[in-house]
Amino acid sequence: MSQVQKPTFKEKYDNFINGEFVAPVKGEYFDNVSPVDGKIFTKAARSSEEDVNLALDAAHAAFPTWSTTSATERSNMLLKIAQVMEDNFEYLATLETIDNGKPIREARAADIPYCIDHFRYFAGVIRADEGTISEHDKDTVSIALHEPVGVVGEIIPWNFPLLMLAWKVAPALAAGCTAVVKPAEQTPTSVMCFMELIKDVLPKGVLNIVTGFGAEAGEALATSKRVAKLSFTGSTETGRKVMHNAAENIIPLTLELGGKSPNVFFSSVADQDDNFFDKAIEGALMFALNQGEICTSPSRILVQEDIADKFIEKMQERLAAVKTGHPLDPETMIGSQVSKAQFEKIMNYIKIGREEGAEVLAGGEAGNYEGEIKDGYYIQPTVLKGKNDMRVFQEEIFGPVVSLTTFKTVEEAIELANDTAYGLGAGVWSRDAHELYQVPRAIQAGRVWVNQYHTYPAHAPFGGVKESGFGRENHKMALDHYRVVKNMLISY
Ligand code: NAD
Repeated sequence: MSQVQKPTFKEKYDNFINGEFVAPVKGEYFDNVSPVDGKIFTKAARSSEEDVNLALDAAHAAFPTWSTTSATERSNMLLKIAQVMEDNFEYLATLETIDNGKPIREARAADIPYCIDHFRYFAGVIRADEGTISEHDKDTVSIALHEPVGVVGEIIPWNFPLLMLAWKVAPALAAGCTAVVKPAEQTPTSVMCFMELIKDVLPKGVLNIVTGFGAEAGEALATSKRVAKLSFTGSTETGRKVMHNAAENIIPLTLELGGKSPNVFFSSVADQDDNFFDKAIEGALMFALNQGEICTSPSRILVQEDIADKFIEKMQERLAAVKTGHPLDPETMIGSQVSKAQFEKIMNYIKIGREEGAEVLAGGEAGNYEGEIKDGYYIQPTVLKGKNDMRVFQEEIFGPVVSLTTFKTVEEAIELANDTAYGLGAGVWSRDAHELYQVPRAIQAGRVWVNQYHTYPAHAPFGGVKESGFGRENHKMALDHYRVVKNMLISY
C-alpha cells in the first residue's frame, strides 16, 4: 500500500500568544526531529520566562471576559474547534505521525477521533451542568456557585501531543478558565499547526501556547505565581518537582504520571472458546500500541501457570505477524520511538533485562530498515520472561517491551499486580464471574479494563493512584478540577 504524503512545513514555528503567532523574545529556536527518519523537519520557538510571562499577561487579560461568557457561547466555540479538526482529519493525523513516529493507522483510529470527541463532550457537559441551590431554612437559601479557578498552566508530554492538549484544554475552557500550554520539546509541531487551523475560533488570549524546554519554559510556567492551577502530564520525576512548585504557591494540581500496569490473564481465557482466547492474546499485544509509549501501557503480563506455554506460543505467533516499519504506511502497526534518547533508554532496559536473567521470548533488537527510514528509531516488540522483582518489571520503560511472569492463585495474581510503586492502569482477562469482579476491585489502579484494554472514551474518568499521580481527566468531573465552589447564603 502506498505511503501517505507528507505536508509541507514552515522553516520555523512561533509561539501563539494573544491570538497571534509571535517570535520568542530572545529570537531562539530549536530543531524538531521527526523520528520517522531521524531528520530535522522544522524548528520551534525556544521560549524563556519572558515568553511565558507574555502568555500569562494575555491569559490574565482575557480571563474576566471569558469567565463570564455564557456556557452556550463557550460550548459553541468548543464545537467549532471539533469541526475544524474533523475538516482537517487527514492533515492532523499525518502531522501527529511525523512528529511522534506513531503509525498513521493509530492516529486515524484513536488520536484524532478521541480529540474531536473530547471537545464535543465538554461542549455538551458545560451546557448540561447545573448549579446547586438548596434551602437552608425557611429564611435562607444556599447557592453553590462553580466559578472558574482562573488562569491555568498546562504542561503536556510527547506521546499524544494533540490528545493531551484536548484532555487539558477542553475542560479548562469549558469551565471558563484561560490557559497557557507548554507542549513537549520532542513534539511541538503538530500542536502549532493545529493552532494555525483554529487561531480565529477563540477570543484573543483565551488559549496561549509556548514551546520550549522543560527546564526553561516548563519551569517558568510551573513556578509562576500568576498561575491559579497547574495540570501536568509527564514523568513521575518531573511531577514531583511540579508538586513542590504547586506547594510553594499553594495552588491545586492535577498530576498524570507514569505507570507499570499489570495485564492479568486467568486460565479460563483459554477454555474451549478459541475466539475469546484470540481476543485475550490481542489484549496482551497492547503493550506495543503507540510503540509502548503510553502511560497506561500494559507492560507487565501476569499469566496463570497452567496456560502459560500455550499463551506464550500464541503470543509469539501473533507478534511474528505484526507489521512494523514506516509509520506513514497505512498497514504499519508499530512505528518509531519518539527520539534517539528514548530509543537508547529502551535498548538499555532490554540489556538490563538480559543481564538480570530474563529470557527473551520475542524481539530484543532494534528494527533495522533500509531506505528513507534507516535513521529512524525503531525497536522490535519485545517480550521478557522473568520475575516481578527484576528492574524490567518495576521500572517504567516506556517502549514496546513487556515483562511476563506466571502466577498460580487469584491471591498471588493480586499480590503481583499491586507489587509496584505505580497505580495507573490494569487489565483483567477471565471467563469467571468471581475473578472478573473480585480482582479488579482488589487492584490498586485508577482504571481497570476488564476483558478489553486501551479504550479512552471521554465520559470515563481517567487518572492514577500511588506514584501515578492524582486528579481525574475525562468525564464531567474534570470540570471540577478547573473550578472552585463559592457558596452564597442569602436571606430574603
Ligand atoms: P517529562 O516529565 O520529562 O516531560 C513532560 C513535560 O514536562 C514536557 O512538556 C517537558 O518539557 C516538561 N518538563 C520537564 N521538566 C520540567 C520542569 N522542571 N518543570 C516543568 N515542566 C517540565 O516526561 P516525558 O519523558 O516527556 O514523558 C514521558 C513520561 O510521561 C512517562 O513517564 C509517562 O508515563 C508519562 N506520561 C503520563 C501520562 C498520564 O496520563 N499519566 C500520559 C503520557 C505520559
